[in-house]
Amino acid sequence: MLVLAIRPFLTRCAEVLGQRSELPAWPHGYCPYCGWEPDFAVITPNGDRRLICGRCVAHWPFDAFTSPYCGNGDRALVTSFTSRDGRYRVYGCDVCHRYLKAYDSRNAARPVMVAVDTIATLLLDAAAMQRGYSS
Ligand SMILES: [Zn+2]
Ligand SMILES: [Zn+2]
Repeated sequence: MLVLAIRPFLTRCAEVLGQRSELPAWPHGYCPYCGWEPDFAVITPNGDRRLICGRCVAHWPFDAFTSPYCGNGDRALVTSFTSRDGRYRVYGCDVCHRYLKAYDSRNAARPVMVAVDTIATLLLDAAAMQRGYSS
């Protein structure tokens, strides 16, 4: 009885916390909390991209085909390719020649796990560097 009674309250708390941790709008390619650069990203089930800070692991939404490092938003100057299994994606910027890896969480069994996914994508690092991009 008690659990049933407090459940709507808990749900509302979760919603409020969720809203609070979501920034109103942060159009920049660096971390809104600590100013560091993203070093990983995740593609959400909606197809949006969120950048993940390399220092404090905060994440924030960012345009999927804009380079967070130089602001280049010309899709023709962003080279994107996926790992063989399609689970990971690389975005290479042809202006600043830096790249960013992303975990594609669409149809994925688990959420992004930066420590695991960074290691799981070492082949993509090699592929990106072969194409002339640097991290
Ligand atoms: Zn940060
Ligand atoms: Zn760039």
